[in-house]
Amino acid sequence: MKLKVMDLEKGKVNIEIGKKEFFRDPIFFAGPCSVEDYETMRKITSSLKEIGVDVLRGGAYKPRTSPYDFQGLKDDGLKILQAIKDEFNMVISTEILDVRDLEKAMDVVDIIQIGSRNMYNYVLLEEAGKLGKPVILKRGFSATVFEWLNAAEYIMKEGNEKIILCERGIRTFETTTRNTLDLNSVAYVREHCRLPVIVDPSHGTGVRSLVKPMALAGIMAGAGGLIIETHIEPKKASSDAAQTIDMETLKEIIIKTNEIWRYV
Ligand code: PEP
Ligand code: MN
Repeated sequence: MKLKVMDLEKGKVNIEIGKKEFFRDPIFFAGPCSVEDYETMRKITSSLKEIGVDVLRGGAYKPRTSPYDFQGLKDDGLKILQAIKDEFNMVISTEILDVRDLEKAMDVVDIIQIGSRNMYNYVLLEEAGKLGKPVILKRGFSATVFEWLNAAEYIMKEGNEKIILCERGIRTFETTTRNTLDLNSVAYVREHCRLPVIVDPSHGTGVRSLVKPMALAGIMAGAGGLIIETHIEPKKASSDAAQTIDMETLKEIIIKTNEIWRYV
C-alpha cells in the first residue's frame, strides 16, 4: 500500500514555525542537550533569539545509554521550559519518552520530539499523532529509511500531517565518529516524501568541530533546517558536551546557511 507520507500528488506538507515556513525558509532549532538550570537557560535563550534561532530545544527527560547517567531534570525541566517560554515567547521543542508524560507536557511543548530510541514505539507515535502538534521524528539509529517513513506514517494516519523528519546519524562499522550522518537519506526524503527533513549534525558526528561542516553539507543535501546542540559554555553542558557548540559557531552556521539557501 502506498504510504501517505510519500503521496507526492498531495503536495509537500506545509508546517509554519512562527513567521517562517518549511520549504520556504531554513528553520533553526538549537539549545542544550538537556534543560539546564533556569539562569543558564535564560542566558542561552536570549543569545539564541539574538542570532535568529526559531525553536529552543532542550531535553527534560533524557534517554541515556547508562541508567546511572544524568536522566534530565524531568518535571522540573518542564517547569523551567515553561518559565522560559513565558519570558521569551520562544517556540519550545522537547523530547517525550513516555506516553504517560504527553498530557502534562502539552502546555509547554509546541513541537514534540520523538527520539531515535523511540522511533519504533508505535503507541507513542500514535498518541503523538492524536495531539495534532508538530512532531520531530528522529530516525532510529539502526532504522532503514523505509522503517523511518513507516514510523512517520503511524503519526500521519492519526490525522496529523505536521511531521518533521530528522536525520541524526546511524550506527555503522565506522567508530571514528559517534554516528555516521546519512545524507543520502536527506536527499532521498527530499525527493520522495511530502515531509520536511532536518539534519542533526550534533548526534550525527558527536564531535564539536565537525558540526559546522556537516550542518552545511546537510543543507546542500536538501535539509529544510538544522537542530544543533548549543550552549553558552559548551564544555559545561550537563550531557553531550563533546558535541555541543558555542553561540559564535552557531551564528556562523546560520549566516552561511542563509547564504547558500537560495541555491538549494
Ligand atoms: C537529543 O536530541 O538530545 C537526543 C537524545 O537525540 P537522539 O534521540 O537523536 O539520540
Ligand atoms: Mn543530546
